[in-house]
Amino acid sequence: MEQFNPNQIDYFRSLLGPERFSTGDSNRQLHLHDISFHKGKLPAAVAWPKTTEEVARLLTFAYQEDIPITPWGAGTSTEGNPVPTRGGLVVDLTQMDRIIAIRPEDLQADVQPGVLRKELNRQCGRHGLFFPPDPGADATIGGMIANNASGVQTVKYGATKDYIMYLVVVLPDGEIVHTGCKAPKSSAGYDLTRLFVGSEGTLGIVTQATLRLAGIPAHHLAATITFNGLEEASRAVAVMMGSGLAPAALELLTPGLIRLMNREKALGLPETPSLFCEFHGISAATLAETALLAEELCRDCGATAFSSGVAEDERRELWRARHEAWETIHRAHPKKETLIVDAAVPISCYPQMVLFSQQQVDDHHAVGYVFGHAGDGNLHVVLVGDPADSNEWQTLEAINEAIVSRAIEHGGTCTGEHGIGIGKRKYMQKEHGPGYALMKRIKDLLDPKGLMNPGKIF
Ligand SMILES: Cc1cc2nc3c(=O)[nH]c(=O)nc-3n(C[C@H](O)[C@H](O)[C@H](O)COP(=O)(O)OP(=O)(O)OC[C@H]3O[C@@H](n4cnc5c(N)ncnc54)[C@H](O)[C@@H]3O)c2cc1C
Repeated sequence: MEQFNPNQIDYFRSLLGPERFSTGDSNRQLHLHDISFHKGKLPAAVAWPKTTEEVARLLTFAYQEDIPITPWGAGTSTEGNPVPTRGGLVVDLTQMDRIIAIRPEDLQADVQPGVLRKELNRQCGRHGLFFPPDPGADATIGGMIANNASGVQTVKYGATKDYIMYLVVVLPDGEIVHTGCKAPKSSAGYDLTRLFVGSEGTLGIVTQATLRLAGIPAHHLAATITFNGLEEASRAVAVMMGSGLAPAALELLTPGLIRLMNREKALGLPETPSLFCEFHGISAATLAETALLAEELCRDCGATAFSSGVAEDERRELWRARHEAWETIHRAHPKKETLIVDAAVPISCYPQMVLFSQQQVDDHHAVGYVFGHAGDGNLHVVLVGDPADSNEWQTLEAINEAIVSRAIEHGGTCTGEHGIGIGKRKYMQKEHGPGYALMKRIKDLLDPKGLMNPGKIF
């Protein structure tokens, strides 16, 4: 559906006013792409609601008129998750950006879905609190909930799903429901909150959330650890995880990526397989002891250098460089697109997966950078190429396919954190078997007309 009829346009305009409903070409184009290469279909219009009631009225009308709906956060997804595939209406949630309340005494915040993660953490920081899930991008809370986003600190603090207590959701036909509660625990029936977390806007639109917050740790200690080989580095990950040291971040980097980071940011890091690691604790003395033990374990695994006690500025720079890995790769390969592999496996299989992935890149003579949130068994390979060059792109697809298939065979997943969107649909049957058909039955129950974010997950 690339155009609305005059009655439909009148309805939307009268509900939101001309400044919050647009059929203009540039607004429609701006809501056609996330950061991936996935192609969509131009929406007929974009709407910017501000309240739950406005979302409910939008969806009630769209349901009556059979209008496909695509929710939109900050558009930073990597698998085409917010890309409209059947045109229709894009519901951009960025004007629902109110932090309704921060309740430090409960360690909770009530927010609208368009609140940006970094702004939320700025405000929570005043109370000594933070919202730990941390995808590199400045995503919206709604987009993070919908993708169940996570990041470098997930190894200690958990993913978005672990921080969502209560939701207000507008279902595809416009009905408003709430899920969960604000008590720290509950065993009251089905966990509907978890059903909506990770559902990528295919079951409804989240219009309010109550988030769990954590205390900002008093002390941090960062370390960089280098190894001669990838196998030793990835083996050290499982050893660290089994040691009880509970790192707050444990990232694997390979020489190709470190080379790009050094070139761009003059970090002066050794260009060998490395771990970036961080610990959080109540005192500098505890952290110093932790670092000693971590060094001993890593040296036993073949570490050639262990540099801890990185100064605060340097620590920030290190993590900034790691968070910007994807942008750094893009800047190093202008005019190319990236295909991002995002597999995750049980931690014992991580060394095999890392070696297999690097081997795939090398054997195919592809341009690809292997790294990952190693402590979570989460492996990324950013493959670089040109989708218009069908031979080259097919090679990248084949590498992705091989890595994902291997991860699923190990009992892992086709996506550790980026979600299914368009790109990972083809792996759902293999990963879930009959469970995939059950997901479809749930989808059909809540969205019998298939109007909510069509073409995603299924
Ligand atoms: C440089 C870079 C690094 C990244 N690193 C990570 C990482 O480490 N970990 C990670 O997990 N991700 C990462 N991402 C991916 C991305 O940032 C996350 O998936 C993020 O959660 C997307 O949020 P968004 O606000 O951009 O949502 P969008 O991309 O706009 O939308 C995401 C999905 O949510 C749906 N949606 C949006 N709002 C709502 C709502 N209110 N109700 C229902 N559905 C909704 C959309 O339809 C879509 O399906 C990275 C992205 C970039 C660009």
